Amino acid sequence: MPDEITKSDEERAGAAMPDFDEARLSFSWDDAATLVDGWPDGALNIGYEAVDRHVEQGHGDAVALHWIGKDDTRRQLTYADMAVLSSRFANVLKKHGLEPGDSLFALMGRVPELYAAAIGTLKAGMVFTPLFSAFGPEPIRTRMEIGNATVLLTTAALYKRKIAAWRDQISSLKLVLIAGNEAPDDCVALGPALDAASPEFETVHTRPEDRALIHFTSGTTGKPKGAVHVHQAVVYHAYSGRNALELTPGTIYWCTADPGWVTGTSYGIIAPLVNRVTMIVDEAEFDLDRWYETVQREKVEVWYSAPTAIRMMMRAGDAAAEPYVFSSLKFLASVGEPLNPEAVIWSHRVFGGPFHDNWWQTETGGIMIANTSAMDIRPGSMGKPLPGIEAGIVERENGSVRECESGEIGELALRPGWPSMMRTYLHEQARYDKCFVDDWYLSGDLAMKDKDGYYWFVGRADDLIKSSGHLIGPFEVESALIEHDAIAEAGVIGVPDETAGEIVKAYVVLNPGFEASEQLEREVRGHARKKLGPAVAPREIVFRKTLPKTRSGKIMRRLLKARELGLPEGDISTLETDET
Ligand code: ATP
Ligand code: MG
Repeated sequence: MPDEITKSDEERAGAAMPDFDEARLSFSWDDAATLVDGWPDGALNIGYEAVDRHVEQGHGDAVALHWIGKDDTRRQLTYADMAVLSSRFANVLKKHGLEPGDSLFALMGRVPELYAAAIGTLKAGMVFTPLFSAFGPEPIRTRMEIGNATVLLTTAALYKRKIAAWRDQISSLKLVLIAGNEAPDDCVALGPALDAASPEFETVHTRPEDRALIHFTSGTTGKPKGAVHVHQAVVYHAYSGRNALELTPGTIYWCTADPGWVTGTSYGIIAPLVNRVTMIVDEAEFDLDRWYETVQREKVEVWYSAPTAIRMMMRAGDAAAEPYVFSSLKFLASVGEPLNPEAVIWSHRVFGGPFHDNWWQTETGGIMIANTSAMDIRPGSMGKPLPGIEAGIVERENGSVRECESGEIGELALRPGWPSMMRTYLHEQARYDKCFVDDWYLSGDLAMKDKDGYYWFVGRADDLIKSSGHLIGPFEVESALIEHDAIAEAGVIGVPDETAGEIVKAYVVLNPGFEASEQLEREVRGHARKKLGPAVAPREIVFRKTLPKTRSGKIMRRLLKARELGLPEGDISTLETDET
């Protein structure tokens, strides 16, 4: 496998940051802040920055949203349309007595109203919280309780199935808006309400530190936390969208994430709109041919997706991609989980450009470490901290931290101070405070920095395996496993062992055309031993149809482990697929 994918001078010249080192040296937050307008009174509002200012500046005709329905119906909303629809939405909220600071929860599929509602909520100075529409009743209820929801926006079907039975228990809830023209008695139908509302709304002059968004973490490691973000975050969304994702006015951009996950809001609504791109939104879930066809037909230029989807594409093989033309693609990026080197190389071959891995968290609100367009890629590395971001690898030592040498594994830490950093965990101030030691924010992820400044993900602190004196990150083992022709995906855990402390155990999903057998297990173990050495290679391999994943597509290793050990499963509110 090549150690590096190098970029040509031409590729570099066309990038937002042609010279990364120079961009780092010359970076200033004042410059970054010029990407948004704000108001002379010091107010700042994400909704205004994302939509209305573009209309005021003469770009109302540009397409903001190109929507593809599940049944292939299409809708296009220009920036002017989006401004009007979001203003009407804000007026509906106002008419029902809602006020700045109130909290709107959205529970619906990826339809244009959701996007306009997000902007309208922000323009009204209220706090926007998107949830996955596929959540069950209990995860919805607990999140609405934690977030003191005052408004819920949903559909009639979801309301009936998931909400109606316990709606009265949420004492803060004042209004339920139902998309479409009809609604149950105790709810308001959004369609007629929007029609009756004025298309003009004066955006609330929120202060930069006013709350704007609450995002619940994915729940990969435990009970999800509600991370609070403020309007100031828009500076970082604008800046990182521009520099880490190559978003410029008019770019055709497809972020495949659902707004129920922070990626689908930060980079699926705010960053693209603030940078005045045309967003492609597909209401349907992953389907290989549909995705390839969408890229080809819509001439997608920037594509932001996640390792689970990329592995699914890879699993289908080169032949499945063959009939499609991907020449419109200029920049591909991935987030959410470690991106296996194999997937980087594969995408480079098939799409003509590699997926660029980047790392961030719900807490950081935006991309922190990235492979940018002008950077040579080391497959398997997350890239380098963006200009403006100071990162480090540290070790906790008696209540303080020590910075690690390059090559040493430690906890990935960031110097607080960038605009999109969470301001607290809702109702969990102590948990929030614990993230900070010696003026570092500690991410809970383990990583390593090489001598050239590239960061390499090792694993979540909780997932690290200690076997016969070795520290083993699951990612390394999983990546080696999926290099085997038979293996599509792998989840690796440590299980207790009397002599070794822990031994490595792998759960794997096979590629089409392969059958589980003892012989295949032996062969895969042999392959892993050759790649990783006997101390790190899995001792045991279990074949599964799927791996347990969160709705944002992350392998839940803690669940594999709890089941292995017969321990309680803990919070599984975000669990998606699960078939043994
Ligand atoms: P919870 O905090 O509730 O356990 P979570 O950490 O999965 O869930 P998110 O904020 O959605 O919730 O995910 C952030 C985490 O995802 C990171 O801390 C990291 O572990 C993982 N991650 C994100 N991007 C990458 C990446 N490029 N490489 C490796 N891991 C990544
Ligand atoms: Mg987390």
